[in-house]
Amino acid sequence: MPKDHVDYGSDLDLIVDPRGRISVLDTEFGTLVGAGIPFFSVGGGVTRTVLHRILTDFHVQRGYRVAMTPAIASSRLFAVSGHLDFYRENMYIFNIDEHEFAIKPMNCPFHVLILMNALQRYRNRVSLPFRIFELGHVHRYELSGALYGLLRVRGFTQDDAHVFSPSSSMEAEILKVYREMVEIYEHLFHLPVEEISLRLSLSDPSEIGKEYIGSREEWEEAEEFLRRVADRIGVEYTEEKGEAAFYGPKLDVVVGEWQLGTVQFDFNLPRRFHLLGLLERVGLEPDLYMIHRAYLGSIERFLGAYLEKFQGRLPFVLNPVQILVISVLSGGNDGEILKLAEGVTRELKSREFRAFHVSVDRVGLASYIRKVESGVKPSVLVFIGEKEIESHEVPVKYYDPVERKRKDRKVVYESVEDIVNGVHEVTEYLETPVDRLTGRKYRLPVDLSHLL
Ligand code: ZN
Repeated sequence: MPKDHVDYGSDLDLIVDPRGRISVLDTEFGTLVGAGIPFFSVGGGVTRTVLHRILTDFHVQRGYRVAMTPAIASSRLFAVSGHLDFYRENMYIFNIDEHEFAIKPMNCPFHVLILMNALQRYRNRVSLPFRIFELGHVHRYELSGALYGLLRVRGFTQDDAHVFSPSSSMEAEILKVYREMVEIYEHLFHLPVEEISLRLSLSDPSEIGKEYIGSREEWEEAEEFLRRVADRIGVEYTEEKGEAAFYGPKLDVVVGEWQLGTVQFDFNLPRRFHLLGLLERVGLEPDLYMIHRAYLGSIERFLGAYLEKFQGRLPFVLNPVQILVISVLSGGNDGEILKLAEGVTRELKSREFRAFHVSVDRVGLASYIRKVESGVKPSVLVFIGEKEIESHEVPVKYYDPVERKRKDRKVVYESVEDIVNGVHEVTEYLETPVDRLTGRKYRLPVDLSHLL
């Protein structure tokens, strides 16, 4: 046992209050994980897994390689990258076998190593621009007082990518990045892209050489370049002095007041890793810049802000509970109602939707709806009760992500199949924008029935 071992107590108390409520964990996951370290449970796990699939396909189809780099590396890597000098206060650093290691605060140094390795082994068969994407899980130290829900955390996942490009294609690469970013916002998250504005984050010239690596001329040149690209993009932008990354200026994308994606220009890292010399050695032009970019930024923070902004309503493909079929029982045709509702649910499940069935007594229906609308918020609700059986008409209520409200649709039916087809027309409408991103459907039929 290490000598600084602290006894935190290894017993958990099973506490059951007089009303039968169990509170082994005092909060959702108790204090056993720690503040600022988000936990995606069974519902969030579905959202994250589907999101990761979409993002991975999206990037691969647009010419990115994918990587998965480790959480921990020797401090030496971060000394070379400059993180140890310029970012140390945000890093977790510790010893293993008397060597210093750090938890990665960013993925960039690893992506530089990937390019270096490719150049070394495959030489001029490596063509530029070279793009690497990673859903990189990073950890950064934040003061405990600064932690706030999913919005300010210590461990998070970035939809991170780095583009290594010769100067001649830099502008085209940044414009490509910008277009991709808008596609994701518009088709996956239905964000009002007409409200996008940009923020050009520049250095503070008096801090160059201290807070910012490189010479004043290099910074001026890089900032002027990024200003030209911002002009080309053609949306409104403001300039902010002293907001650049330590390695270069950046363009941040803002929707309304919400800061989303970022494109950062870097003339430092390629030089610190001697990439230019390496290029020359393998017979390529020693001309290389690097773009750091993320569309959602921290996925945790993005989802937290999204849920807050849109009353907890996730897009259909990402929503853990996609379709809820409700049997409304009133003692009349209950047998027939249940048979129909179960048949519809079974068929929707066989199409790999996350579809669930519940039975609710007619008198309790309104309060049950209030409960699910304030809780799991299914994207689609299908009601089957006595009235529906008699009229052969089933109401399908779906949440329209563009208009941000529930809409109604009546499905006239003779068979289970008719109802399923009616629901399917709605799901087609909800899935189509995502199809446009990758040409694929994203279905992950995890059983979450215990949440209902
Ligand atoms: Zn980076």
